[in-house]
Amino acid sequence: MIELKRIQTASSEVIRDINRRIVLNLIRTRQPISRADLARVSGMQRSTISLIVEELVDEYWVLEGPTGRLPRGRRPTFLRLNDDRVIIGVDIRPIQTTVALADVNGKFTSQEVMPTPADPKIAVQALIQRIQTIIRSCRNKKIEGVGISLPGRFNQNSDRLVFAPNLKWRDVDLRNPIVKATGLEVELENAANACVLATVWFDTLVTCRNLVVVTVSEGIGAGVLINGQLARGLNGMAGEFGHVPLDPKGPECSCGSRGCWEVFGSNRAAVRYYLESGAHAGGLSFLDLLSLADQGDTLAARSLETMAHYLGRGMRMIVAGLAPERIIVIGDLTRSWHRFGPVIEAEVQDQILPGGCMPAITPAHEDGMARLRGTVALVLQKHFGTGLAHAS
Ligand SMILES: [Zn+2]
Repeated sequence: MIELKRIQTASSEVIRDINRRIVLNLIRTRQPISRADLARVSGMQRSTISLIVEELVDEYWVLEGPTGRLPRGRRPTFLRLNDDRVIIGVDIRPIQTTVALADVNGKFTSQEVMPTPADPKIAVQALIQRIQTIIRSCRNKKIEGVGISLPGRFNQNSDRLVFAPNLKWRDVDLRNPIVKATGLEVELENAANACVLATVWFDTLVTCRNLVVVTVSEGIGAGVLINGQLARGLNGMAGEFGHVPLDPKGPECSCGSRGCWEVFGSNRAAVRYYLESGAHAGGLSFLDLLSLADQGDTLAARSLETMAHYLGRGMRMIVAGLAPERIIVIGDLTRSWHRFGPVIEAEVQDQILPGGCMPAITPAHEDGMARLRGTVALVLQKHFGTGLAHAS
């Protein structure tokens, strides 16, 4: 039997919750903003806005700023997010881990880098120590939680890192030991997915609902936003385009297979092309390769071009399979986008299906912080929703 009364209660709670998220996101993206402007932009009643804002002020999510001055004597009070609410962001990469502190606006106030221990148990203990140090330094602030970006896929149901070929941690529980030791809520997410969240949340220029972020470093990762939702798939394994073989006879990949996209299109691949071309340069990094190309080293430039061709070829899978409006590329290669962009675009354009559309392929404004910004969004999601409300 359906109890009508219960349904009505539930739906009014859902609406209240949605309205609250819309108001929070409007304050977040348009602050400082007055109540009158909130009502105008959201289309909600002034009374509804006043109630929600009162609640948000009571909970210290929102602060009332200075009084503004408008013509005809009106003096609205401007609202902004309370930046004493902070988030601890952790970006774990195969070589190094960054632990940072940010406010609700995604502004980072501190960060430190440590080497990533090979043993996950030691890594967790090291992280707990850093987090506890931050907690002690934040006595006057409210810590919302810890967001962690991982170079692998994380199964949200089993709390396990299920696939991290470049990190080589297997079947590790990263969440519960940190929760137990710090008393904070901990959210974990794949690095490419974290970059999707960072884009949706903090890049106000990007408002599309079908978007793929491709992260290019030692490997290639992809984070997929479909119809405004992050696609995680079964076991959190969605987005592993980097491990689809382009050539089954190709070089061995860290996943155990051969000839995966990332074996041909990653930073590591470009360094390999350079060494294979006969250049004598042991211990060369990808950044060295970018500078060599800029200094006129034609072998270096050619190696980067080969990498770019393969990046474009791999992106054909993404374009044909997901039809995104935009592909955002993140990684050190964006520093030399003039070398990569045109080659990648030409490769993708070559294989657009009849009826298909060429997506915009753009480099992220790379400051190396996209993953960390994503960890902030990850923690704030439960209060703000997907963050897409500002685009609605
Ligand atoms: Zn692979």
